[in-house]
Amino acid sequence: MTDPHELRVLNPATEQLVATVPAASAEDVAAAVARAVRAQRTWAAAAPADRARLLRRFADVVDAHTGELARLEVREAGHTIGNARWEAGNARDLLLYAAGGAERLLGRQIPAPGGWDVTFQEPLGVIGVISPWNFPMPIAAWSSFPALAAGNAVVLKPAETTPLTSLRLAELALEAGLPEHLFQVVPGHGATAGRALVDHPDVAKIVFTGSTRTGREVMERCARLVKPVTLELGGKSPNVVFADADLKAALDPFSFLDNSGQDCCARTRVLVQETVFEEARDLLADALAAVVVGDPADEKTQMGPLISARQRDRVRAYVPEGAPALRGSAPDGPGFWFPPTVLTGERHDGAAATEEIFGPVAVLLPFTDEQDAIRLANGTPYGLSGSLWTRDVGRALRVAQGVRAGNLSVNSHSSVRYWTPFGGFKQSGLGRELGPDALTAFTETKNVFISTEGPAQ
Ligand code: NDP
Repeated sequence: MTDPHELRVLNPATEQLVATVPAASAEDVAAAVARAVRAQRTWAAAAPADRARLLRRFADVVDAHTGELARLEVREAGHTIGNARWEAGNARDLLLYAAGGAERLLGRQIPAPGGWDVTFQEPLGVIGVISPWNFPMPIAAWSSFPALAAGNAVVLKPAETTPLTSLRLAELALEAGLPEHLFQVVPGHGATAGRALVDHPDVAKIVFTGSTRTGREVMERCARLVKPVTLELGGKSPNVVFADADLKAALDPFSFLDNSGQDCCARTRVLVQETVFEEARDLLADALAAVVVGDPADEKTQMGPLISARQRDRVRAYVPEGAPALRGSAPDGPGFWFPPTVLTGERHDGAAATEEIFGPVAVLLPFTDEQDAIRLANGTPYGLSGSLWTRDVGRALRVAQGVRAGNLSVNSHSSVRYWTPFGGFKQSGLGRELGPDALTAFTETKNVFISTEGPAQ
């Protein structure tokens, strides 16, 4: 039974209890928002250079704690230690990038007869952030730090399974000298703390990352208050591999196994041109067999467990006993393990090929030519990421134009950089995070016309 007043954080690799955390009630959330409203007024009035200086100091403090934050992420989320170190470094680097933005939040001067017209980018106020369990630390950072840099306060509700790194980041913010109550974390359940944040009239905007289903509910509730919302939702991203590609690089299994596949950008639809399909299947079979799955704290481990028993059950439902598949191995015993899997007998429009599984499971499908590849790549309600592999530059550009997704890589599997925009088409979301315009999404544009007409003669 879930205790509504307490969050129990389990180590997904051992099922041991890591910590218990009091769960915020709707009243706790309201109190946090009231404190944030006061803190934001002072913060917005501070000189941009002072805000930038404090955020850089915050980055220094995070830098001094990257090892500790990484170990915490291994324990609460089961991330491999190498990935977790990168994630802590990513939070630090984003702070430095966003800090510069505080000093460059420019308005415009627009020609207008009879005077001057200027625009200002004003902070929104209090931003409510709801983050998921798959990348607790980076997503908390992506949604919160640009908002702070733009002069807002943030109240962050992390996923109930993974509140610890977010709580630690808030402590480090205070240690760095950020004003009290400017960056608060309210760990709690989605149905209580999450909804309370969404429904609070003093929360000016919601940034939500999670499932499309919950995102839709968040958007509906925000609509009642005409509250702006950024949604980073699910994905079912294609990896389009043409026959002329570097097949070994293109079929890197970590394009869908990274973070045990619990990644909205995971390339879980492996679309391979039919002339090299057999070769691709053999390459993937060898690659899966070589993946080291195990203790995420071990430097040699390449893939850890899933986040929870619930998530393992969800993933398992897509892989029926005896389904044709290529399989790697996974440990037995305690821990939420699932082996790397590539389903080979799926229909392109079936559930496993079109729904977000959020585990180490991909589907392998053939295509005939460029048009067929684009059609299959677009054959889901999602449009977040994708990779295109070909040595033909013209084809790469044509396919990139044809695929309806927010983040594509050609001859690469990369997708999220803090200095480039990130977000989805279709049911993968609304709005963009990160990149040069990240701060603008946390502002309102105010237009002021100043008359230069003199007094009437
Ligand atoms: P959810 O979308 O339900 O959870 C994401 C966040 O929303 C959590 O902080 C959750 O809190 C909160 N939340 C839940 N319900 C509400 C609500 N009614 N109002 C406001 N906030 C709410 O994802 P799940 O954990 O249920 O995961 C289910 C599936 O979603 C996964 O299998 C995966 O397919 C997808 N997913 C996609 C992610 C992505 O990055 N695109 C991230 C996470 C999941 P709490 O945890 O306390 O319930």
